[in-house]
Amino acid sequence: MEEHAGKLSAPGKEQLELLAAAGRVLAEPVHADRDFPPFPRAARDGYAVRAADLIQLPAELDVVAEIRAGAAPEELPERLAAKQAAAIMTGAACPPGADAVVMVEYSRRHEERVEITRAVQPGENIVPAGSEAKKDQLLLSPGTRLDEAAIAVAASVGKSQLQVYRKRGIAVLATGDEVVEVETKPGPNQIRNSNSYSLAAQVQAIGAEPLLLPIAPDEPHRLRALIEKGLQSDLLLLAGGVSMGKYDLVEQVLSELGAEFFFTGAQIQPGRPLVFGRVRDKYFFGLPGNPVSTMVTFELFARPVIEALMGLKPRPLAFLHARLKSEVKTKTGLKRFLPAIVSGEFENAQVELAGWHGSGDIAATARSNCYLVIPEDRERIAAGEWVAILPKTIFY
Ligand code: AMP
Ligand code: MG
Repeated sequence: MEEHAGKLSAPGKEQLELLAAAGRVLAEPVHADRDFPPFPRAARDGYAVRAADLIQLPAELDVVAEIRAGAAPEELPERLAAKQAAAIMTGAACPPGADAVVMVEYSRRHEERVEITRAVQPGENIVPAGSEAKKDQLLLSPGTRLDEAAIAVAASVGKSQLQVYRKRGIAVLATGDEVVEVETKPGPNQIRNSNSYSLAAQVQAIGAEPLLLPIAPDEPHRLRALIEKGLQSDLLLLAGGVSMGKYDLVEQVLSELGAEFFFTGAQIQPGRPLVFGRVRDKYFFGLPGNPVSTMVTFELFARPVIEALMGLKPRPLAFLHARLKSEVKTKTGLKRFLPAIVSGEFENAQVELAGWHGSGDIAATARSNCYLVIPEDRERIAAGEWVAILPKTIFY
């Protein structure tokens, strides 16, 4: 996958207001416009002191100033002399000469004097100027997803607008003679199209623009015409028609169009039939039509490629870990991603299967909040074992 990510051309750029850029992909470097913090910052409410004055406890110090957050430099004492302290608030600048802040909890104030009952190390409760970042340092590089912390950084350096990559257009094409549009009342042996919508929701969630094409029948001419239409987008996602059935025509039609296939099939369940390739300079995925397979294979295979197209720096898929709530038995040979429910707080994360009835069971998947990953060589996993879980697509 990474080898393909390297070959993609960078998307176009646009300038957005800071908040509108949240969730998007940064297209410009963002540097520190000053030191961070710009002044030695008190991290606690208390007294700015010289740590050496607190060797004998309790220590009595003269309070020579009160420093609010935002106080101008001329409001600060020029220099704290021996046995002097300044009352100080969180976020205020420490005066010259002070090398620590004692928390207010360890002090007793007697008018212009303060009794300190606890020693401090030099540097304690002070964040030195420039310790988080130096002026001109690179803070955010192009290809970064603008999450809340990145938005905070941009705000802190005064960027009220950001240059981001333009959204990529991802065509979504569902196939199958049994599949009808959502608005249509299905015949007795027909089903409504859910794959186009789950895929479009996933595409949207990761920050690309889905384009839904009409359902393609299992008939080569119409299928070909719709594939050609889809190839006008930045990438084409097909769902269904890639297994071994007589009317699974996706691979055949793509081959006729001159497609290059990078892989066909993956040793996973759900999602075994799957193709990834390129035709007419566009990447495509032929994902399995079983709805849960479609969702899982999007997350495992299509998402990283679309993210690379969007200009994001490649990153490994993120798996979380939890303890298995009750024993799981499966057949070996395929790596499994089974709809599951993770619960429990902090270090007590527990996961259990959502109780599904196969790769078509969207109801169970809707009840789940993740997929339990079962290695291909495990027949039985005991309750209490640590297992990997793949989160569902995270919405931005
Ligand atoms: P296929 O991959 O075409 O063999 O389809 C596998 C299974 O997924 C079949 O049971 C299909 O009816 C079902 N399926 C295919 N496409 C869709 C779709 N767009 N929405 C919901 N189910 C589908
Ligand atoms: Mg089909």
